[in-house]
Amino acid sequence: MVKNVVFAFVSIFLAHTFLAYFVGVKALFGWVTGPPGEHWGAFVLASAVAGLMFLDFGVLREQVCLVACPYGRLQSVLLDRRSLIVGYDARRGEPRGLPRERTQAGAGYGDCIDCSACVITCPTGIDIRDGLQMECIHCTQCIDACDVVMEKTGRPKGLIRYGSRDELEGKPRRILRPRIVIYPLIMLVVWGGLAIALTQRGSADVTVLRGIGAPYGLLPDGQISNQLRIKIVNRSTETRRYAISIADAPDLTLVSPDNPLEVAPGAASTASVFVMGKAGSFPHGLREIDVAVNDGAGFEKKTPYRLLGPEE
Ligand code: SF4
Ligand code: SF4
Repeated sequence: MVKNVVFAFVSIFLAHTFLAYFVGVKALFGWVTGPPGEHWGAFVLASAVAGLMFLDFGVLREQVCLVACPYGRLQSVLLDRRSLIVGYDARRGEPRGLPRERTQAGAGYGDCIDCSACVITCPTGIDIRDGLQMECIHCTQCIDACDVVMEKTGRPKGLIRYGSRDELEGKPRRILRPRIVIYPLIMLVVWGGLAIALTQRGSADVTVLRGIGAPYGLLPDGQISNQLRIKIVNRSTETRRYAISIADAPDLTLVSPDNPLEVAPGAASTASVFVMGKAGSFPHGLREIDVAVNDGAGFEKKTPYRLLGPEE
């Protein structure tokens, strides 16, 4: 009972941490302290994520490692006979036998006393003595369990240990092989690409979204109005004022009470913007524009956006 309560608390905490990644801590705090009915979408999502985590911790457990986790599948394609794995030294351990069987039959047994400590401790429930299996997550718990048994029985540790399949079968070691070079090269390309992407990131993120409600409105003077929401994340270390404009569109007018939009360092703000123009500015009911955001300190970004209007 206590265990399930702890699992439930951890699941709820993790679910809210997950949600905070997407909406920010401030918004999440407002949601959590407000009634669920006002934010039922977030409430259902957080409840579903918390429920799934509780199911993982409390019910499915190793089934998630066996069925959902890709680690086992990856190792079956990435490893070869010379890769370092958690392995059982069958040459030393076999034939296995319980201590009482040894006493009866005398000599001729290997070091494995068939105590099953390695199987009992295994979180995925496999017997490493049957060889490398997809379910093995290389947690090394079986190594520790077997070493304790070897200590108690006065035999050298390492009946289960890190080693390659070739090495455990007594074949010579060969460290240098193509995958030793190719895998790090692939990682280098991936990490290098990530590093380049990070260094080229601007000091702000701009997202242009359509306003909530009707796609466009018809004003009393005959103009067409589109509502936009422009979310700006300030990644710099100082407060910035972002000027919003429409690039190369003199026939359109931008009106916003939030322009320029002031954003604190590390924070995000959303400006509500109206773009208006005559019906002729929306040929076939569409108009492609670029929403320009400029902080006056070197950051400028143009985001393509499609305005909507009545079809002629
Ligand atoms: S390393 Fe972990 S998962 Fe693999 S057999 Fe040993 S105890 Fe089981
Ligand atoms: S813990 Fe060691 S001695 Fe016991 S069954 Fe496993 S391999 Fe054999």
